[in-house]
Amino acid sequence: MRTAIGIIGAGPAGLFLSHLLHRRGIASVVLERRDRDYCERRQRAGVVEHGVAEALRASGAGARMDRDGFVHDGIELRHGGRGHRVDFPGLTGRNVLIYAQTEIVKDLIARRLADGGEVLFEAEATAIEDIGTDRPRVRFTRGGAEEVLECDYVVACDGFHGIGRASLPADVVRTFEKVYPFSWLGILADAAPSGDELVYVHSPRGFALHSMRSERVSRHYLQVPNGTDTADWPDERIWAELEARSARPGWTLNRGPITDKGITPMRSFVTEPMRHGSLFLAGDAAHIVPPTGAKGLNLAMHDVMLLADALGQWADDGDTAGLDAYSATALRRVWRAEHFSYWMTTLLHTDPEGTEFDRRLQVAHLEHIAASEAASRHLAENYTGLPRV
Ligand SMILES: Cc1cc2nc3c(=O)[nH]c(=O)nc-3n(C[C@H](O)[C@H](O)[C@H](O)COP(=O)(O)OP(=O)(O)OC[C@H]3O[C@@H](n4cnc5c(N)ncnc54)[C@H](O)[C@@H]3O)c2cc1C
Repeated sequence: MRTAIGIIGAGPAGLFLSHLLHRRGIASVVLERRDRDYCERRQRAGVVEHGVAEALRASGAGARMDRDGFVHDGIELRHGGRGHRVDFPGLTGRNVLIYAQTEIVKDLIARRLADGGEVLFEAEATAIEDIGTDRPRVRFTRGGAEEVLECDYVVACDGFHGIGRASLPADVVRTFEKVYPFSWLGILADAAPSGDELVYVHSPRGFALHSMRSERVSRHYLQVPNGTDTADWPDERIWAELEARSARPGWTLNRGPITDKGITPMRSFVTEPMRHGSLFLAGDAAHIVPPTGAKGLNLAMHDVMLLADALGQWADDGDTAGLDAYSATALRRVWRAEHFSYWMTTLLHTDPEGTEFDRRLQVAHLEHIAASEAASRHLAENYTGLPRV
C-alpha cells in the first residue's frame, strides 16, 4: 500500500490532519488499532479553544459543533464559599466552545469517509521503518495479516502509549516529565448542568470541577489519591463529596443517574524534538498536560494545523522550510500550554504533601485573580487559547 502521508491514530489529531490534507489535495491513510465504535465512544476532553473552533469551522467540519456546542463566555473560580467569574470576551475578545472530543471524532470520521478518505480501523501499526530515508514504511496488522504502508512522511498521532515516540532514535530524544500526587475521578451523569458555565473549585478537601456535555448531561470531576479504584466511590459518596467541596450560598448541585466513571492520572510530559527524518509526532504522542487547563485536545489540534500548512508548502513546491521548523514552532506553544496547565493544576489542587503555608499561598493567589484584572486576563488569554504562531 502506498500514500503520501501515513498517519497512525484516529484520535482528533490524526483525523483532523487527514481532513486538512485532503482539503489541500494531499493523500493520506489513517491506521487505527481500535474499531470505529470504540473511537466514537471514548470520553475525554470537552473544551474547544476559540481558534480551534474557528479552524474546524473553516475546514467545513464544524456544522454540528456550531449547532450542538455551547459557547461559554467565562468560568467561575470558587473557594471558601465564594466565586469569581473570569469574563473571557471582556478580557480577551474570545470565548470557548463546550463540545465533547468524542463528538469531534464522530464528525471527523464521518467527514473523512464521506470524502472517500482511507481510515483503516482495527489496523495496528507495529513498526515504523526507514525514517532516515525519504521512503519510510509503517508495518501494520489487519485481520491477522501483516501489511506495509509506504509513504513520503509518517505522522504518529498515536497518543501517549503509541509506537511513534518510541521509534525516534534514543540518542536524539529528550523527555521531560512531572507526575502529580493525585488523579481525577470523572463522572458523566444524566443530570442538568448545575449552572451555565464551568466551575473550578479549590477546597481543603481537594479540587472539584463542574462541567457539562449537553442540556441533560453533566460531567464532574473530583481530585482523588493516585491508585484510587472507582469501586471505592459509590454514587452517593461522589455526590456528597462534590457538594461538600463546592458549597456556595444559592448554588445547588443537580443529581442524576451516573452513567460513566473513570480515573485520569495527572501528568505533564514533553518529547523533544517532535520530528526526526521523515517521522513527525503530533498530539499526545509528543506531549501530555494535566487536564485542568483544558489544553490536551487543543494542543493536538494546533500541532496538526501547523503540520498541514507545512505539508501543503512541501506538496505545492517542494519547500520543506515549514517541515524543518515544525518541531521548534510546535514546542513553543507546547511549553506555554505546559506552564499554564501546571499553573492551573498547582493553583487549584490540594497537594497531599503540602503544608498549611502552601494552602494559604493558593488562597492569596486566588484572591489576587479575583481582585486584579491583569491577573484575570492572564488566565483568560491562556484558557481561550493564544493566537496561532
Ligand atoms: C481518560 C482521559 C481523559 C481526558 N480528559 C481530558 C479533559 O478533560 N480535558 C482535556 O483537555 N484533555 C483531556 N484528555 C486529553 C485529550 O483527550 C488528549 O489530549 C487528546 O485525546 C489527544 O488527541 P490525540 O489525537 O493526540 O491522541 P488520542 O486521542 O489518544 O488518539 C490516539 C489514537 O491512536 C491510536 N493508536 C495508538 N497506538 C496505535 C497503533 N500502534 N496503531 C494504530 N493506532 C494506534 C489510539 O487507539 C487512538 O485512537 C484526556 C485524556 C484521557 C486519556
